[in-house]
Amino acid sequence: MLSTDAKTHCPYCALQCAMTLSTAAPAAQPTEGRRLSLTVSGRDFPTNRGGLCKKGWTSAELVDSPERIIAPLLRDAEGRLSPVSWEHALDEVARRVASSRRVHGADSVGVFGGGGLTNEKAYQLGKFARVALGTSRIDYNGRFCMSSAAAAGNRAFGLDRGLPFPLSDLDEASTIMMLGSNVAETMPPFIGHLAGARAAGGLIVVDPRRSPTARLTEDGAGVHVQPTPGSDLILLLGLTHIVIAERLHDVDYLRSRTGGFDGVRRSVSEWWPERVQSQTGVPAHRLHEIARRLASGGGTYILTGRGVEQHANGTDTATAAINLALVLGLVGADGSGYGTLTGQGNGQGGREHGQKCDQLPGYRKIQDPAARAHVAAVWGVDEASLPGAGLPAVELLASLGEPGGVRCLLVHGSNVVVSAPDVSAVRAGLSRLDLLVVCDFFLTETARLADIVLPVTQWAEEEGTMTNLEGRVLRRRRAVEPPAGVRSELWILAELARRLDSPGAFSTHAPTVFDELCRASEGGLADYSGISYDILDDDSVAAYWPYPRGSSGTPRLFADRFAHADGLARLVPVKAHEQSVPAQKDGVVTLITGRLLEHYQSGAQTRRVPELLDAKPEARVQIHPATAELNGIADGAWVELARGESTVVCRAELSLEIRPDTVFLPFHFADDQSANLLTEQLTDPISGMPEFKRTTVRIQTVELARRQEAVGA
Ligand code: SF4
Repeated sequence: MLSTDAKTHCPYCALQCAMTLSTAAPAAQPTEGRRLSLTVSGRDFPTNRGGLCKKGWTSAELVDSPERIIAPLLRDAEGRLSPVSWEHALDEVARRVASSRRVHGADSVGVFGGGGLTNEKAYQLGKFARVALGTSRIDYNGRFCMSSAAAAGNRAFGLDRGLPFPLSDLDEASTIMMLGSNVAETMPPFIGHLAGARAAGGLIVVDPRRSPTARLTEDGAGVHVQPTPGSDLILLLGLTHIVIAERLHDVDYLRSRTGGFDGVRRSVSEWWPERVQSQTGVPAHRLHEIARRLASGGGTYILTGRGVEQHANGTDTATAAINLALVLGLVGADGSGYGTLTGQGNGQGGREHGQKCDQLPGYRKIQDPAARAHVAAVWGVDEASLPGAGLPAVELLASLGEPGGVRCLLVHGSNVVVSAPDVSAVRAGLSRLDLLVVCDFFLTETARLADIVLPVTQWAEEEGTMTNLEGRVLRRRRAVEPPAGVRSELWILAELARRLDSPGAFSTHAPTVFDELCRASEGGLADYSGISYDILDDDSVAAYWPYPRGSSGTPRLFADRFAHADGLARLVPVKAHEQSVPAQKDGVVTLITGRLLEHYQSGAQTRRVPELLDAKPEARVQIHPATAELNGIADGAWVELARGESTVVCRAELSLEIRPDTVFLPFHFADDQSANLLTEQLTDPISGMPEFKRTTVRIQTVELARRQEAVGA
């Protein structure tokens, strides 16, 4: 019997706002048309306090969307995707995958996962890849979001949990510095936690755009600085320089809780304020003001987001933010700290349980013999049979169809032809594959290219768990039955494993998979072994990992020690290079990409909600009026953005919010409006994170572009 009032959480971002999903009619199983009457209401919870954004409010509309795929689809001889039975679809996947493995080896089969999958699905996908497919070629779209902050957290603290404290701790802070994060649009209920700092005049926002979050600093609530895109690392080195030069650093804390201060002190010595000003455009007096404010006490937090992390030096930039927080003695101190704001719904849990190419469940390293032995025992397989580390997402995608690369790809919960960098190259790679299988609930841009599409359950139709941006594990509860032709990914993976004669057991039952995940994670950094569905179903319990068996979890990390063996945090010196700013002539500007209030990630879901699409139906490039005038661009005019042969055509939106040398384009839109047509495959050498936030492009009116094309022709 299904509940008619299910307590669950929003399917979208990592804030995982609590909501109640009510069904007005008994759940039925029709397969066509509008079948349900679902209503969403916000539920009181420490992160969202009953609030939801318009994405959350409208989320239930997709559950019975007429665009749902309700039968497996197979590409036929005419090239059309046609419905087939599950038996046939799965037999076909298994036959072609087995053939590829036999002829080209296990690593010819790849798996691409997603940061929106439940913990159970993410875990099972990692196990399926290593055990049933025997491939090392698995990674996921979280590589595009969280990998640099994760790498920085791991090397500084020995552990990566986005917020090592409950979000509500921010309420008491008098100073919060947010770098590269626009929570007012990405997760609006979050801004309630900034109220205390705003009232104290202590909200500091670092963003090249005067975003809605930056505007929260107005009327004496704080400071907004607009550095040159890509100069955040220099800005952070400059702030650390001032803190040390003015003896604002916490000597006792540095001595007792950290190592490496001398190296960091030397590394920031060359970034004096005037030099930083010349590189970032942020006035030296402003840098002094910010540094002093950060050191003023009364509760200070430093938070980073994708704006500073999605760079080819993202790990070093996040490290510089951590260094600054450590030098100030914030991390692990009462009422202060450092955190990174995870974006995708299960961006935290999705990076803990084995979807990453170098990882086993519990945030274990796949090359660690002890980790392999532990996980192999839980899986009931020989540890020698587990593959080693694979390729991070961008390299994995670049290998598609190449000699020695992946020839069959299984995609779960990811729309790579919109969300990956350089999507033209990704499309070309997908077209070279022998087999592309996509598991999704809509015919996304990636699913449209597939040989086989397998329709899966949505959030409201499944049991599971998600781990929010605080590292708190939450229950997702089933409120309605899925359409008759739809299956859960747990079932699909179990059926494929059986057809592939896989060793090990693949349960289709979410609580059983969770119990196994907990055992597999036991003793790892992200230890879930003390958690169960019973615990999560008790509303009075807040389950923050690490939650070893017999414990009650860890809301606040690092109060006494860090996760390195010696208990100390590592200050890691990082180096910045002076950057050349592209000359602002012939329409050359720096492109930054990001999100809008109405849409989530690739827009595969939110572009299907009429209210959200009507509000933001297309990509518009934000451009400063002075730059527009210089290039003869009027508000609303059609413009072309170009990087080499790659172009995007969209309307211009004139705005004083953006720097004159910079344009902003949201990345939610597809096909010829996909911002990622313009981004490159450049990645951070440590994390594999792509450079999404600094691409040199040329902008001009479409008329001028066409005239030039004609002349060229
Ligand atoms: Fe909350 Fe994020 Fe959902 Fe909006 S999208 S309701 S902020 S979880």
